Amino acid sequence: MKCKVCSEHAVIDVRRHNAGFCQSHFIDHIKAQVVKTIKEFKMFEPEDRLLIAVSGGKDSLAIWDILLDLGYDATGFYLDLGIGGYSTRSKEASVRFADERGAKLIVRSLQQEHGFTVPELSRLTGRVPCSGCGLNKRYEFNRAALEEGFQVLVTGHNLDDEVATLFGNVLHWQTEQLGRQAPMLEERVFGEGGDAKTVLVRKVKPLVRVAERESAAYAVLKGIDYIVEECPMVEGNTQHRYKEAMTMLEEASPGTKAQLYFGFLKKASHRFKEEEADAPVVPCTSCGAPTLQWDDGKLPICSFCKTKTLAERNKLEGKTGAPQGRRRRRR
Ligand SMILES: [Zn+2]
Ligand SMILES: [Zn+2]
Repeated sequence: MKCKVCSEHAVIDVRRHNAGFCQSHFIDHIKAQVVKTIKEFKMFEPEDRLLIAVSGGKDSLAIWDILLDLGYDATGFYLDLGIGGYSTRSKEASVRFADERGAKLIVRSLQQEHGFTVPELSRLTGRVPCSGCGLNKRYEFNRAALEEGFQVLVTGHNLDDEVATLFGNVLHWQTEQLGRQAPMLEERVFGEGGDAKTVLVRKVKPLVRVAERESAAYAVLKGIDYIVEECPMVEGNTQHRYKEAMTMLEEASPGTKAQLYFGFLKKASHRFKEEEADAPVVPCTSCGAPTLQWDDGKLPICSFCKTKTLAERNKLEGKTGAPQGRRRRRR
């Protein structure tokens, strides 16, 4: 197979584009896909300060690398979740990359910020680790971006991630999540200002046009030393099964994933436009993060603070959360 651009020997075959690429033209191709995505969804401008959520894996380091190459003001943010050797090694990969590229990396640890790790939180609350992990990440990424003065939070979600999420949301008809599934979520400001003001920063996913195997190939070809191992806590994660199912369809007919995802964005996502919440969004009385004010006479407390309080109480009382089976998904 030959490179589509220069006819030299191709190092990778991208079947859905029906094209092979040599090393340098593949790297150009991936960058062009990212540039196109940033423009199409009006993700950010050259003067914006970008905070990149990095995990030490191929996707987050690849998007950070691309944004640095494109000349953006891109700072990394690593959140240490305290998942044993996995967290140690993923932090090392992130620090190593930042050093090599001379890029700025902010490191925070859940243990230092809040006094617990993801495995501890799971044990103390009796909830599956991935739910606590997702909650912590959403909360801490937003908080770090606001405190450190960033306008945009960038994550390394690739095409496979977004397609698996979409597939799962459709299987369960999670209409609320479908309404929020977008490559760009605009900043949202709630309240009047002053103490009543609370903000969700803009979140973007510039890698949605790049498949998982392409971001891995990009990282390898650019010599990025990323952590290959996956989080040990995702065993049996449903997202993995959805990815496998979609990959099977993709192999039989290349382009299926992109067709499903971009077709959804073009033809269907507006039909799920976020319905007005039943309750107004107000600052959490404990931490100030946006949360819903239900008409139940209770002070508004965000789900992060609720989980943290439950974990702290159980720790104090020497209890662990009741073991639970498969929790029903919240509609
Ligand atoms: Zn070429
Ligand atoms: Zn809170």
